[in-house]
Amino acid sequence: MVRIENQEALLSKDEKYVWHSMKPYSPSNTMVASKAEGSWVTDSDGNRYLDAMAGLWCVNVGYGRKELAEAAYEQLKEMAYYPLTQSHVKAVQLAEKLNEMLEDDYVIFFSNSGSEANEVAFKIARQYHQQRGDHHRYKVVARYRGYHGSSMGALAATGQAERKFKYEPLAPGFIHVTPPDVYRDEDELVTNPQELKSVKEVDRVMTWEQSETIAALIMEPIITGGGILVPNDHYMKGVKAVCEKHGALLIVDEVICGFGRTGKPFGFMNYGVKPDIITMAKGITSAYLPLSATAVRREIYEAFNSSEQYEFFRHINTFGGNPAACALALKNIEIMENENLFERSRELGEKLLKTLKNRLQNHPNVGHVRGKGLLVGIELVSDKKTKDPLDVAKVNQVISTCKQNKVIIGKNGLTVAGYNNVLTLSPPLNIEEIDLDYVVETLVNALEEIK
Ligand code: PMP
Repeated sequence: MVRIENQEALLSKDEKYVWHSMKPYSPSNTMVASKAEGSWVTDSDGNRYLDAMAGLWCVNVGYGRKELAEAAYEQLKEMAYYPLTQSHVKAVQLAEKLNEMLEDDYVIFFSNSGSEANEVAFKIARQYHQQRGDHHRYKVVARYRGYHGSSMGALAATGQAERKFKYEPLAPGFIHVTPPDVYRDEDELVTNPQELKSVKEVDRVMTWEQSETIAALIMEPIITGGGILVPNDHYMKGVKAVCEKHGALLIVDEVICGFGRTGKPFGFMNYGVKPDIITMAKGITSAYLPLSATAVRREIYEAFNSSEQYEFFRHINTFGGNPAACALALKNIEIMENENLFERSRELGEKLLKTLKNRLQNHPNVGHVRGKGLLVGIELVSDKKTKDPLDVAKVNQVISTCKQNKVIIGKNGLTVAGYNNVLTLSPPLNIEEIDLDYVVETLVNALEEIK
């Protein structure tokens, strides 16, 4: 049996051997986890933590679901691997299920990660226009503050400034527009999408860049990593109309918002819009195994079938649509549906938001509390009038105090310009209510300390 060492020993080996992507970002908060069950994660010393951030990795059905492990195990025994250059049963079944869940006619392309699903979407969008003889449509419009992944194209779409000077030249042809921000510069109550500043900007940029050069726009329904920016209810409709006007495809990144996080099966379903392409990952398997998918409206797919032959879409990957991952995803979706987790996310999320708004309304550093479903952001400011972001050391202090009290919460926003000031709650969708109450108590108390 492999002996598990204590935290101190593991942390020092971790320090020595493991290169973490965001090391300086979470100082003093690292732990070496060894077990997890429900909403709780245990480190190698047996300390238990309530993971109110599991939702950003999208462990939507909670940790330790034996049914999921068994679904993967059974599939590994039956047939561990077969490529999707051919086909296999579980990929067909999962594609059919996703098509049903998306409530319209979409064809599914499987890959391995959220980044890859977005790369696939960009390539499909560009090739789609080519197939139709539109050879200049290559640009992709994205939003500042949005995160779409770490590979060169997905990073180019990402609108967080630190991507720039470190890794340029990135994939060319990506342009950014201002994101919707109802706290700082947009009216939450406007009902005509065309009146929204952020919608007008998309229109202006597409016009000035020339419609004939624009292939697509990519957006999350709610910007997650950039600070849980819940837009005006009519924003997405406005963006879709502008895309249609300019002949651009609308790609919706559901890597976090999908699979119930925002209280609906997919985030876009909150906003009455039908995207052209939808990308999904994480929550598709509740993060138990790597799998992602790019769902493409059938008309777009059909453009790849010329009258004589199918036009090759060149994106070959070995592991995409891996049978065990597909089997696990099917079981994961079955659990979500059987346990009404989408509905639960909506109901519990509404309650959570109301409670937090009430409890925190008089706190001098809580500028804005926002969210949808079990995805909540609390924007901290140094002064409610100027809305200047709270110093990141104080934001970190809240996170550390919560951790000392065995609750893991997150922080999102921008690591540049000081806007790294949005506390994030995104627990598993089946978190026990008593545990969620404990998260709220702990967070409210931790916020008291920084007043
Ligand atoms: N899109 C969004 C919205 C994400 O949050 C992420 C990951 N955090 C990605 C894409 C990239 O997914 P992955 O890490 O699986 O490549």
